[in-house]
Amino acid sequence: QHYLKRIEQLDGSLNSYITVTAESALEQAKAADARIAAGNASALTGIPLAHKDLFCTQGQRTSCGSKMLDNFISPYESTVTQRFLDAGSVSLGKTNLDEFAMGSSTESSFYGPTRNPWDTDRVPGGSSGGSASAVAARLCAAATGTDTGGSIRQPAGFTALTGLKPTYGRVSRWGMVAYASSLDQGGPMARTAEDCALMMQVMAGFDAKDSTSVDQPVPDYSAALNDSLKGLRIGLPKEYFAAGLDAATADAISAAVKQFQALGAEVKEISLPNAELAIPAYYVIAPAEASSNLSRFDGVRFGYRCENPADLTDLYKRSRAEGFGAEVKRRIMVGAYALSAGYYDAYYLQAQKIRRLIKNDFMAAYEQVDVILCPTSPTPAFKIGEKIDDPVSLYLTDIYTITANLAGVPGVALPAGFANGLPLGMQLLGPYFSEARLLNIAHQYQ
Ligand code: GLN
Repeated sequence: QHYLKRIEQLDGSLNSYITVTAESALEQAKAADARIAAGNASALTGIPLAHKDLFCTQGQRTSCGSKMLDNFISPYESTVTQRFLDAGSVSLGKTNLDEFAMGSSTESSFYGPTRNPWDTDRVPGGSSGGSASAVAARLCAAATGTDTGGSIRQPAGFTALTGLKPTYGRVSRWGMVAYASSLDQGGPMARTAEDCALMMQVMAGFDAKDSTSVDQPVPDYSAALNDSLKGLRIGLPKEYFAAGLDAATADAISAAVKQFQALGAEVKEISLPNAELAIPAYYVIAPAEASSNLSRFDGVRFGYRCENPADLTDLYKRSRAEGFGAEVKRRIMVGAYALSAGYYDAYYLQAQKIRRLIKNDFMAAYEQVDVILCPTSPTPAFKIGEKIDDPVSLYLTDIYTITANLAGVPGVALPAGFANGLPLGMQLLGPYFSEARLLNIAHQYQ
């Protein structure tokens, strides 16, 4: 009731939720009370959460921030949200996002932009900006997000939250509407690393319904939170601290480095030599996969259908032309072009080769250091509308986050401080399946 009241009071201006499921939330809360009274509660029983509106939730609208799915009531539940239901968590509703998670500002949503609670003239980041804004404004206790190229970490950085992008394959993608399947990964967005650990405990684990899910035991993410950082080797990639990085963020990370040293860590410079190739590679691979994934929205089986189609071709054309927004169309065109005969070798294949080089950079770095520390974005939250007419300038802001998705490695974003009232973000990237260690390091820092 507390959170529902806050949503009612504050979300009119923030627009962090697309759908608020007040009635079922109160029912779930009642069931959680009964479960707690019966003594079979888990850590998240009764905890009010919100889910990014691209996790399918049975019997509820799952819109992906798109007109295309505005009328789509999911007939099934995603693995992630099912696990939270099984844990007895309460779902307050579904949060706003860039259309089909394509964006870094939550401005491309069919439902309008979400505002950053720290400064409502600014974006909360994206694409999981609704989740970020909702957690930051205390319109839920914690939320789920997804990260294809930074969509958990960058909004966490813009709103002073902690957010974890797990290793690719650690969290099931089943029932998570696909954007770029080889990069997408769900994860927690919360106030602290401790909260993220509790969320991960529920989210992580093998799922036979997701063919890329990894069958590896799930550690106790909370058990190691208090481990010492003595002897921890932290690497600072020199390519990430070059031109283009905002001075306040650079200063905040220098201050963080001192704190990590005081906690017993050794810090040294490393190199990720192919970092500058990440944006061009990502913006070929992600749209290529998106163009394939989004071909299912044809106006026939589900989602938006145009009125009075003349014939089948007209039905396809107009349903897609009217149902998708500008950014989604741009990605489909770029992706279809990159995959087309004659261009495949020049673009898609080249991008895949760069992807391997970027992965190799990480593997080489992890031979010298345990984790990598770097910013989450070149600047703090920008103004709503500032980059809307210049998609490439928006793509460039993903420079520090997309490498982890291309390599498949995990990363935790955590607050690095404030400048002029705006949160600054930083992230720690680790080797595959190092989520427990990353959360431990973030927790010690916090
Ligand atoms: N900004 C990136 C993109 O638009 C990443 C988005 C995401 O992680 N979902 O592709």
